[in-house]
Amino acid sequence: MQLRPVLRTTRGIQTSDGAGVRLRRFLGGGSGLPSIDPFLMLDYFDSPSAQDYIAGFPEHPHRGFETVTYMLAGRMRHRDNKGGEGVIEPGGIQWMTAGRGLVHSEMPEQTEGLMRGFQLWVNLPAKDKMTAPGYQEFPASRIPVEERDGGVRVKAITGSTSRGTAGPVTAAATDARYLDVELPAGATFDEALPPGHAAFVVVHDGVVSVGGHDVPGVGLAHLGDGDAVRFTAVGGPAKALLIAGRPLKEPVAWHGPFVMNTTAELMQAIEDYQAGRF
Ligand code: FE
Repeated sequence: MQLRPVLRTTRGIQTSDGAGVRLRRFLGGGSGLPSIDPFLMLDYFDSPSAQDYIAGFPEHPHRGFETVTYMLAGRMRHRDNKGGEGVIEPGGIQWMTAGRGLVHSEMPEQTEGLMRGFQLWVNLPAKDKMTAPGYQEFPASRIPVEERDGGVRVKAITGSTSRGTAGPVTAAATDARYLDVELPAGATFDEALPPGHAAFVVVHDGVVSVGGHDVPGVGLAHLGDGDAVRFTAVGGPAKALLIAGRPLKEPVAWHGPFVMNTTAELMQAIEDYQAGRF
């Protein structure tokens, strides 16, 4: 077994997006922090005050990738121009394949109280960029939790754990894994990961020790190559996401909500959107 080392850690940068929603960005998207192929961008929003989130993310397009929203607290309503609509509840996941494109809004379904969660952007390979849009959406009650020794609980959202617990979301193009791991104080989580897959850990509660680094929540540790990951809760209980996937190794042409392979495809995306062809 070769444990993956930590290449770097980051606390992200404070920014805002949509109609002024305060958030912390950990990857890409003009943050100055690199993307981790196939993961383009990662945002974390966490606020008890409505003024930080109430304006939400009014109508905007996407083309060429997937947006993944995982709510920890609060509720988010999404609505698109193809008739799709729903509310993401605490502990629920929405894995949206934008494909050739849609126009949607993501708006808080609450006017007060805590709003907390993540949005990850997962790139699509060239062959899938113009696929039909679609959703994989599951409430917490439909996401399996694997119980391990020492009180470790592994919520399998996407992909399978090494012990065979399969998440309800499939992401075949990138063989993505999205696990939310809960650790009692001092407990250790060990997991096999395919060598060559990109991987990172995002601590969202407590402090986790990984590869000799103590990473406090909310913090990200980008993992180097190897075939396994190991992390431990230090100083109290902790929670962390483990996200991994196969790199696409394709050229990225990115402008705002459009992520294609070439500038010509980007120009086409802008033209199609402006002409109402989404
Ligand atoms: Fe969006």
